[in-house]
Amino acid sequence: MSFDALTRMQQGLAALKADHLERRRLLLDGAQGAHATIDGQRVISFCSNDYLGLAADPALIQAAHAALDQCGVGAGAAHLISGHHRFHHEFEAAFAHFVGKPAALLFSTGYMANLGVLTALCNRHSEVFADKLNHASLVDAARLSGATFTRFRHRDLAQLEGQLESSTAPEKMIVSDLVFSMDGDSALVDALLDLAERYDAWLYLDDAHGFGVLGDGRGGLTERARTSDRVIYLATLGKAAGVSGAAVAAHASVIDWLLQKARSYVYTTASPPLLAACLLESLRQIEAGDARRATLRGRIVQLREGLASLKTGTLMPSDTPIQPLLIGANADAVRLSRSVLQRGLLVPAIRTPTVPAGTARLRITLSAAHSADDVAQLIAALHDLA
Ligand SMILES: *Cc1c(COP(=O)(O)O)cnc(C)c1O
Repeated sequence: MSFDALTRMQQGLAALKADHLERRRLLLDGAQGAHATIDGQRVISFCSNDYLGLAADPALIQAAHAALDQCGVGAGAAHLISGHHRFHHEFEAAFAHFVGKPAALLFSTGYMANLGVLTALCNRHSEVFADKLNHASLVDAARLSGATFTRFRHRDLAQLEGQLESSTAPEKMIVSDLVFSMDGDSALVDALLDLAERYDAWLYLDDAHGFGVLGDGRGGLTERARTSDRVIYLATLGKAAGVSGAAVAAHASVIDWLLQKARSYVYTTASPPLLAACLLESLRQIEAGDARRATLRGRIVQLREGLASLKTGTLMPSDTPIQPLLIGANADAVRLSRSVLQRGLLVPAIRTPTVPAGTARLRITLSAAHSADDVAQLIAALHDLA
C-alpha cells in the first residue's frame, strides 16, 4: 500500500538518481587492503583510509585472536557500568602517553567522540567557530550542542579573528579538522592556537587523517599545541590505526568532565575489548612505523610527479595521503571513476553534499601497502583516459 509520505520519499530517491547523486555501497569480500575484491572484481583500491596497511596486518590479527580467547566478543555493558575492560584502560593510558597529553578517553567511533565532546563542553551560551570544510560529524555535533554556530571560510583566520572579536559568548570553542578529509590540506595549528589564546577559547582539533601518518606517527599537533591545556585532540582509530574507535586526549580535567558528561560515551555499550587489544598492538606498530611512513611518502611523491601534467583534472595541493583530483561536474567525476574501475582501479567520485557543488573530484588515497607498480598503473590509466 502506498501513502503520500512514501511516494514523496520515492520521488526524492528518483531525483537523486537523476542528478547523479545517488549513493550506493560496494560489496567487499575478504580483507581490506591495497588489493581487494570489491563487487566480485579484483581491484587495486585507492579509496581506503588504511594509510599504513594495518587493517589486515598479521600482528593485529594475532592480537585479535589472543584477546578473543581471553575476553570473548562483547563488552556487555557501558563503560560506567561494567564494560570498561583492562584493554580499554591500558589503551587510553598508552595513547595519552604517545600523543603527549595528560589523559585520554576512548570512544566507539569518531562520530560519537565529536558529538560527545562538543555537547559536553558547549551549550546554548557558547559559540562554536568552525572551518567551513570541517567533517560532517563536527557540524552535527556543533548543532546538537545548542551553541551559536559560526563558520569561517576554509583556513581564513582573518575572518575567524573578526568573528572572535565580535563574539560576546562566555564560552568559545574553535573547531577544525587537522587534515581536511576531502581536500588533504592541513589546519594552521599554531595560528589557530594564537587566536584561541588571545580570545580565551578552547581549540578542538580532529586529526582523523593525521594520526599515525604525520610526523613520527603522533599526528599533526605542533609541540606548542601538544603542551597547551586549551587544545583538545581527537584521533580516530579506524583509519591509519586500522581498527575502530576514536580517542580524545586533553588535560585530565577535560577527560574527567567528558567521562561525566559526554552522552555518546555514557549511554552506549563499550566497544568489544578485543578491539582495544588490537589498538594496543596498532599503537606499537605506529610507534615503530617509520619505514611504513617513508614508503607512504614515496608513493605520494610518485603520484604527484606522475599526475603533474594531467589534462583531465587538477591534483589539489596536498602532502598527505589524501590526493584529490579535482574534476568539477558530478557526471564527469562519476564517468571517470567508472572508466578507471574498468581497468581494475578503484577510486571513488566524491560529490555534493560531501564537497561544494561544482568541485566533484576523484578522492585518491594512498597507503604504505601500495607498491610503486600499483601507483604507476593509476598514473598510466589517468593519462590514457585524458
Ligand atoms: C572519518 C572521520 C570522522 C569519523 O570517524 P569514525 O571513527 O569513522 O566515526 C571524524 N572526523 C573526520 C575528520 C573524519 O575523517
